Amino acid sequence: MSKKVAIVTGGGQGIGAGIALRLAQDGLAVVVNGRTESKLASVVDKIKANGGEASAFAGDVQFKKTNTDLVQFALDKYGRLDSFVANAGIDWVDTIEDTPEEQVDNILNINLKSQVWALQTAPKALRKNGDAGGSIILASSIAGMQGFEMLGLYSSTKFATRGLVQAAAKELGPDKIRVNAYNPGIVLTPMWDEIDARFAERTGAAIGETRQKFVDSILLGRGEEPEDIANYVSFLVSDQANYITGQSLAVDGGIMFQ
Ligand code: NAD
Repeated sequence: MSKKVAIVTGGGQGIGAGIALRLAQDGLAVVVNGRTESKLASVVDKIKANGGEASAFAGDVQFKKTNTDLVQFALDKYGRLDSFVANAGIDWVDTIEDTPEEQVDNILNINLKSQVWALQTAPKALRKNGDAGGSIILASSIAGMQGFEMLGLYSSTKFATRGLVQAAAKELGPDKIRVNAYNPGIVLTPMWDEIDARFAERTGAAIGETRQKFVDSILLGRGEEPEDIANYVSFLVSDQANYITGQSLAVDGGIMFQ
């Protein structure tokens, strides 16, 4: 198949679904990963209804084997891989002191290890493209640029993402594999519904109050949509970005400044 091929993890909803839809619109075949088959099916159906090409691959990316199988699935199904977007992630809202041990493990396993596995499993497939190379894109966050209270564990994983991006870009640059991250701000996805509800529980804030407070701090005056990230990822996977590697860019409407 001559179409370019992308994997998007955590693509059943939110930012990942937005990225999957956009990359399919750009003409890539997209393998959409997530844990819930029904959500994946609805994203794949939507892509196909728009004339795009997509397949679902259900599995939990905190395990290395899922990532190995995901890459192999893309190669078997489409014959190549051009981009791996390691988007899957979870939040955890609590003080560092009160975060239970199993939640520490959970967030490190899902947010951090899944990205390590992407960086371990995608390069071999991307090297098959020779000088055309490929790209690996990881989800960081504005919480990876500044520690946010009640989001300390989450912040720690998103800071780690930026370290991985820089080191992997150095290791993989000679193979023409670019590694970058996007740092979203306050994206109006189910994740923020959850964060808002947990802040309400922990601090006594009204439902919607915490999110509004954060949205009010955005220079461009509105909450972020998955499409805002998808626009940037569309650029990063394209040849327009073929001289950009090792970068983690805030795409946040003006919250953080590098
Ligand atoms: P979301 O919770 O709305 O969607 C995340 C998706 O990832 C869900 O479909 C979920 O099932 C899936 N997922 C979670 N763990 C998984 C696993 N182990 N294996 C496979 N799939 C898994 O979140 P979102 O807002 O779309 O966030 C996407 C990414 O962007 C995350 O990495 C998140 O940390 C990051 N991010 C989000 C925001 C925001 O404001 N929403 C801000 C900064 C960074």
